[in-house]
Amino acid sequence: MTTLPVDTPNDAYDDAHEDGNVLAGPLSEVFAVDLTAAIATCTNCGTAGPVARLRVYGRGPGLIARCPNCTHIVLRLVRSPGTAWLDLRGTVSLRIALEDN
Ligand SMILES: [Zn+2]
Repeated sequence: MTTLPVDTPNDAYDDAHEDGNVLAGPLSEVFAVDLTAAIATCTNCGTAGPVARLRVYGRGPGLIARCPNCTHIVLRLVRSPGTAWLDLRGTVSLRIALEDN
């Protein structure tokens, strides 16, 4: 059984994170557009910014992306064989720029 990454008190203060660009590969398996440029709005503090600026913790298969302003979890992504779990409950919205034809 696959479970989503759990928020632990220590990872909020752990500086061993990468920026949201590490989500580009895993998210490209699920979405046809590059979501690292999408604007995510944090449910906790209202900060809006590119997914690429989120602070990402974890080394697959589970990744936790936190708000760079308040460290609230904005996005969780777990990849297992044949399945991707995406938890966006920390996101008010994702604004995705599309090229209209
Ligand atoms: Zn926030």
